[in-house]
Amino acid sequence: MSDTSFATLPLSKSLLTNLESLNYQKMTEIQAQSLPLILNGEDVIAQGKTGSGKTAAFTLGILHRLNVKQFRIQSLVVCPTRELADQVAADIRKLARSIHNIKVMTLCGGTPLSPQAASLEHGAHIIVGTPGRLQDHLNRGSLKLEHLSVLVLDEADRMLEMGFQDAIDSIIEHSPKQRQTLLFSATYPEQIEKVAKRIMNAPKQITVKATH
Ligand code: ADP
Ligand code: MG
Repeated sequence: MSDTSFATLPLSKSLLTNLESLNYQKMTEIQAQSLPLILNGEDVIAQGKTGSGKTAAFTLGILHRLNVKQFRIQSLVVCPTRELADQVAADIRKLARSIHNIKVMTLCGGTPLSPQAASLEHGAHIIVGTPGRLQDHLNRGSLKLEHLSVLVLDEADRMLEMGFQDAIDSIIEHSPKQRQTLLFSATYPEQIEKVAKRIMNAPKQITVKATH
């Protein structure tokens, strides 16, 4: 069996030390398959069951690309629900705790728009949000994605089921063409394949059946 320790990846020492302190000893299968591609800057479609470790896969990709000295929005993670967005933001903060002054902001519905817009003016490195609220901020100009380098669609199958296609299209329209796009999903229906073809650049596809 091949070595699946995180140390085989070209990650910074501080990220590796933090993974160790979180007791992440070995990569899960989806991480072992996707991370070499993700860290290489490729577009990746990763399909795997709940609990397979998808969050850390895209988060390490985001943190690897991030320049904390540039205080502007470099990554956006789109999630289907507020609960998932909160969970993902908490996971990102945990994996990023060795990076000083990193700012992760959530943008979800259910809270007033204006205070969020005011917070956005103070800046962030990473945004995690739900499609409808992200679209609202893009439309009113309070969210700008001109410096985005990584776009993640988490639970893409659920987002399409929930009818977020238009909101996702709008996010894509506001994102730079030159970016890395990562799509995570538990299932891979034809609708996702169509979206992926449209918004991704020569994506590599990974499917992991078993949960670890
Ligand atoms: P998914 O998004 O695929 O449903 P998550 O990313 O939420 O799964 O991961 C499920 C759980 O596994 C989380 O509690 C996470 O902290 C943990 N986890 C992920 N990767 C590892 C790893 N390599 N080693 C140990 N625990 C991990
Ligand atoms: Mg997940």
